[in-house]
Amino acid sequence: MTNAILSPNNDPMGTAIRDYHQQGKAARLRVLSSMFEEDEMPVAHLFRTLDKMPPLEQRALGMAQGRVLDVGAGAGCHALALQEQGMEVKAIDISPLSCEVMKKRGIKDVECVNLFDQQLQGKYDTLLLLMNGTGIAGKLSGLPKLLNRLKELLEEGGQILIDSSDLKYIYENEDGSMDIDLNAPYYGEVDYQIVYKNIKGEPFDWLYTDPMLLASVGKQCGLKCQIIEQGEHYDYLAKLTL
Ligand code: SAH
Repeated sequence: MTNAILSPNNDPMGTAIRDYHQQGKAARLRVLSSMFEEDEMPVAHLFRTLDKMPPLEQRALGMAQGRVLDVGAGAGCHALALQEQGMEVKAIDISPLSCEVMKKRGIKDVECVNLFDQQLQGKYDTLLLLMNGTGIAGKLSGLPKLLNRLKELLEEGGQILIDSSDLKYIYENEDGSMDIDLNAPYYGEVDYQIVYKNIKGEPFDWLYTDPMLLASVGKQCGLKCQIIEQGEHYDYLAKLTL
């Protein structure tokens, strides 16, 4: 985890977002991992409107209040939906290409900055981290750092709305028993590499946490954790407060 932003020459997702915004279509956005088979992320999904969002995300947007910071905003779907409802929202992302698209889409307050960069200051009533928000922690060992950083940006009485998934289903047998190796790293630690056209991004770590673990690390960081809603596929929305 660094404080850096991406180079526009080596930003597969940002390039796909730019293409989709300019042309209404994009090539395949490939997601590689040493742990799973190759997958594809539909670029249109990054441009989803409120009615196309999963129920957990709709719920999160419904709970947003006051000044909102959308962390890792991507193409800006959540920031845009909130702004259209008259809310005050700032969107940040480490992708300069994505940030350009967000500005062109009409999001008024966009900053290309890393969450961990101390230049990012201010207090927010709602911190929004959606589409596996815990991913930004990288590894489980980075989760306290993520939560403590979010605390710095949290207004008194404010809330962190973050979603994730419990990846245990990947290790579940048909009889419900599990094949988890307790000596291995935490099973929600995933590595990804995103590829778009001939642009191969740097591999990065992306953390999924189960709700119990998020609550327990949250507690260590002085945050109360409430599971707001469980999704249909081991995904969930959590609210963390001081
Ligand atoms: N929230 C958006 C995009 C999710 S993809 C949506 O739901 O559609 C995750 C986004 O987080 C990417 O755009 C990535 O560039 C951004 N990101 C990753 N690490 C970040 C960090 N440390 N600070 C800010 N943004 C980050």
